[in-house]
Amino acid sequence: MSNKIDIDWENLGFSYIKTDLRYVSVWKDGKWDDGVLTEDNLLHISEASTALHYGQQCFEGLKAYRRKDGIVQLFRPDQNANRMNNSCKRLLMPEIPVEKFIDACKQVVKANDHFVPPYGTGATLYLRPFVIGVGDNIGVKPAPEYIFCVFCVPVGPYFKGGMKPVNFTIADYDRAAPHGTGAQKVGGNYAASLYPHELAVKRGFADCIYLDPATHSKIEEVGAANFFGITHNNEFITPNSPSILPSITKYSLLYLAKEYLKLDVYERDVLIDNIDEFKEAGACGTAAVITPIGGIEYKEKLHVFHSETEVGPITKKLYDTLYGIQLGDVEAPQGWIVEV
Ligand SMILES: *Cc1c(COP(=O)(O)O)cnc(C)c1O
Repeated sequence: MSNKIDIDWENLGFSYIKTDLRYVSVWKDGKWDDGVLTEDNLLHISEASTALHYGQQCFEGLKAYRRKDGIVQLFRPDQNANRMNNSCKRLLMPEIPVEKFIDACKQVVKANDHFVPPYGTGATLYLRPFVIGVGDNIGVKPAPEYIFCVFCVPVGPYFKGGMKPVNFTIADYDRAAPHGTGAQKVGGNYAASLYPHELAVKRGFADCIYLDPATHSKIEEVGAANFFGITHNNEFITPNSPSILPSITKYSLLYLAKEYLKLDVYERDVLIDNIDEFKEAGACGTAAVITPIGGIEYKEKLHVFHSETEVGPITKKLYDTLYGIQLGDVEAPQGWIVEV
């Protein structure tokens, strides 16, 4: 185990690094065991595991932040626990008690304390909880056993040298079906998104925007992030649909837009043909907090919002407020912060 590490925090990317310890718990004979921390980063599972063949698996993503006073905190981990349980229910996997989920995250952060980046570097510790169906099985049915694991990786600031808007195009493909698993954080949705993502990147865009799979007339997701827009009347708008993954960042921004910025907020349809109703737009998720959207290419035309190079003022204010809360610099609403 390394006690001294030499990491260039400011220049970290988003790549796998083997940290010291990860948490592993096994579900067998109808119950979860207590879980252990282990140095072993390899899983030894049956070749017939449902996770490998039928996509019976789900995951989460959250971060630990080191505050100015050195204390490390998690941002709304109960929300990740609830969302993971929703994914588990949909795929007939056993749920994880919320307390067990939060305790596992805390154990992993504590055990890898020297991998938690210092305050002020822009780097954070990314936590990846996941549940997989394992054990001997060949028919299409739920697995006989499950593994719940949490590992962590230090990750760099998403935007090196400050936030910058990027452009998106509209995907020709769907990431989820109207009544499929779009609202659950399951690997299958991501497998389906790899190809459209690559097509968008090859054409010079950051990623693609997915429209609603039933009518292809409404914005749903921006790559693997949620969409929000600020109208010319200063309303915060975010799409409402059963096939959108409910982003914790998005719901946090919606709350802050209303309570801290005093904007009117609405979850409603966002018609791609009415995209010019917005003066600012962004993609939101744990990785970047907010990625400002410069423009969206639709029907061979680039619709630019605030600017292709500058971040809009409301987007900037939302970002500063939420990131300030995550870092412990801005007072958080009740229950949002869990100290490790
Ligand atoms: C994880 C995820 C998000 C972002 O959710 P956060 O809880 O804000 O990190 C958005 N869209 C998709 C498809 C996702 O998988």
